[in-house]
Amino acid sequence: MDLIPDVFASNVFDDKVMRARLPEKVYQSLHQTIEDGSPLNPELANAVASAMCSWAVEKGATHFTHWFQPLTGITAEKHDSFINPSPDGRAIMEFSGKELIKGEPDASSFPSGGLRATFEARGYTAWDPTSYAFLKGKTLCIPTAFCSYGGEALDKKTPLLRSMEALNRQALRILRLFGNTDVKRVITNVGPEQEYFLVDRDMYLKRKDLIYTGRTLFGAKPPKGQELDDHYFGSIKPRVQAFMEELNQELWKLGIYAKTEHNEVAPAQHELAVIYTTTNVATDKNQLTMEIMKKVARKHSLVCLLHEKPFAGVNGSGKHNNWSMSTNTGINLLSPGETPHENAQFLLFLMAVIQAVDDYQDLLRLSVASAGNDHRLGANEAPPAVISIFLGDELTAVLDAIEKDAPYEGAERKHIRLGSDVLPRFPRDTTDRNRTSPFAFTGNKFEFRMVGSNDSIACPNMMLNAAVADALMQFADELEKAESFNDCLHELIKRTIIAHKRIIFNGNGYEDAWIQEAVNRRGLLNLRTTPDALQKLLDEKNIRMLTEQGVFAESELRSRYEIQLENYVRTVRIEALTMTDMTRKEILPAVMAYSNAAAEGVSKRKTLDPSAACAYETKLLKRLGALSDSIDQAAEELEKDITELDSLENVTFQSVHIRDIIIPKMAELRTACDEAETLTARSYWPFPTYGDLLFGV
Ligand code: ADP
Ligand code: MG
Repeated sequence: MDLIPDVFASNVFDDKVMRARLPEKVYQSLHQTIEDGSPLNPELANAVASAMCSWAVEKGATHFTHWFQPLTGITAEKHDSFINPSPDGRAIMEFSGKELIKGEPDASSFPSGGLRATFEARGYTAWDPTSYAFLKGKTLCIPTAFCSYGGEALDKKTPLLRSMEALNRQALRILRLFGNTDVKRVITNVGPEQEYFLVDRDMYLKRKDLIYTGRTLFGAKPPKGQELDDHYFGSIKPRVQAFMEELNQELWKLGIYAKTEHNEVAPAQHELAVIYTTTNVATDKNQLTMEIMKKVARKHSLVCLLHEKPFAGVNGSGKHNNWSMSTNTGINLLSPGETPHENAQFLLFLMAVIQAVDDYQDLLRLSVASAGNDHRLGANEAPPAVISIFLGDELTAVLDAIEKDAPYEGAERKHIRLGSDVLPRFPRDTTDRNRTSPFAFTGNKFEFRMVGSNDSIACPNMMLNAAVADALMQFADELEKAESFNDCLHELIKRTIIAHKRIIFNGNGYEDAWIQEAVNRRGLLNLRTTPDALQKLLDEKNIRMLTEQGVFAESELRSRYEIQLENYVRTVRIEALTMTDMTRKEILPAVMAYSNAAAEGVSKRKTLDPSAACAYETKLLKRLGALSDSIDQAAEELEKDITELDSLENVTFQSVHIRDIIIPKMAELRTACDEAETLTARSYWPFPTYGDLLFGV
């Protein structure tokens, strides 16, 4: 086997390849262009494109594609070959700067929420030179942004890049105030931890619900679930191990730092963590990782389920979004420093995050809202739908002391005066690591745990970046005018603590008492479903902030509102239809066949012994009969509810109908079917059970 350092990034047109293959001058000016964020000139583009093409062709590539992230949530690609006619009637492999910089996919079928009328089908894709091109199979993939002809973003990358820029702008203002002149850029970093399930492919193929919706819509609880906690960090089964090994190899080739792998809490659940990197690159790589997970699973006769809640009754899957801000000189702005000066700066950035999360709870919540994640947020193992911040006891005590001008009760009792005192040291990795907080400070980064396993991390990060940029902007506005920087800073931090400490909660986030306190006493938002959350997107304060930070135009927000709600409605509609389909074509026939067998049993017994009471069979028949009736009735009602849904014009009404009528009816139908499963003989049940799926690999 090849050595990992040789394999690593072998399929990426990265800095090392560029340095080796581009003329020195071209390489330098490409670097400069990327750094300044200025547009590429055509000459430069041609030189880069030609180097890319020869590199890719040497590695066996025949095609290229602009690789983008439309609002469907997955990545899109349209392949073109490098082939061009040559004068002698043969073919040459060519790729021009124009083709590199800009593409024009026929975009009419991608969701635009009314931004691009279908007659103006053209959208365009534009190269994001900060994310390296890579090879997938025989195709050179060029990460691109996707916009309408009017320049409106139709994808997730564009607003993410804008949000990074917004944060950079405001954070630089703050750093200048602290006398820092050498930092050129502030970058946001993300390291996602990806959870997933693996199930056997043959079993998967027997379940329409998994095929159509990615989750099980039926399934009685097996005798064993996750109650023994024997799966978490347990030894990895050989078949899963083989999958993980191949996955790592594939990811490494693509320059993805796959680092940690382990079994998760639920049976058949696993996790993969990669090393953090710049947000837009981390986002691209996470999209790619999910795609490759699915591909590699297939090769091992497995299916990788990325749905947030593939199974009821055991944990769902999330994606922990570890987020931090750092400078181009390598300083982590969320890392407590050594000197009074550094401490004060750290605290100001920390306060910006606290204010941002409190002011924009709604945006963070809705950035992770989807039909799938609704099953998870607020369910017993997952973070609640209420957003709060875990800071740990030490840091909270420091803030307390500042707020009250009281001595800090740490090692040395003393008053803290920001900017002139050294803060007490707070241990990096606090022992009381909190697993129940949706937004936890973990020493030098924040871990946002509400993100769904299937979601792109672009959305939560663009909202987080924008909200923090907004807080930093307000701080900078005030501090730039201050007569005494240190006094103003101290007062500002104190005021911010008082105004936003309601968002800080170090206790157990899974307790009911917390939700009561959060909502009733602290006035925090509890947005339990996607429709509840999305209603907030168009609140005036949110539109104002997002447009002011240059992350979204108002028209883009309105279109996203439509698209996200539409996604919700369509997803649940497919689930409801799958349920009635499985009920009528598989479950009811199975129950009937088993009932018939029981009835036949009765008549056979009676032939042998006319006086037999046949108590067991009769009881069974009665119960199955009653259940079949309720199943049929619930299915019929669900069918009616779907018809009604289709008659509603407006997507907002549809989403409410889904939330209030369809989802409860689906639950009712499921309960009846699951009970029938527990009564029906194994050999009659039409598809693999929870026990088969969860313990079958
Ligand atoms: P923890 O034990 O707190 O979960 P790990 O070191 O296991 O921390 O890291 C979890 C994830 O957080 C990894 O993806 C890691 O790369 C990422 N991470 C670590 N440091 C940072 C940072 N400064 N900014 C963003 N992500 C980070
Ligand atoms: Mg973690």
